[in-house]
Amino acid sequence: TYVVTDACIRCKYMDCVEVCPVDCFYEGENMLVINPNECIDCGVCEPECPAEAILPDTESGLEQWLELNATYSAEWPNI
Ligand code: SF4
Repeated sequence: TYVVTDACIRCKYMDCVEVCPVDCFYEGENMLVINPNECIDCGVCEPECPAEAILPDTESGLEQWLELNATYSAEWPNI
């Protein structure tokens, strides 16, 4: 799955949401998140993010962000 990280906070761009083929972005408390169960790992959102906030979970040190993406996407609305 891909993971949204803290660079998304207060970002106003929604380019990632528009390109996602499976609509798996959710509106979290103060940032967008990706539902890890719905993301198909296509990677098209990553280069669309002007804040470079979206990373593949294969990168190290993203455990906390992955957990937050999972939690927020379960509780907040799909966008
Ligand atoms: Fe959507 Fe693909 Fe990005 Fe996953 S990697 S959030 S499926 S655009």
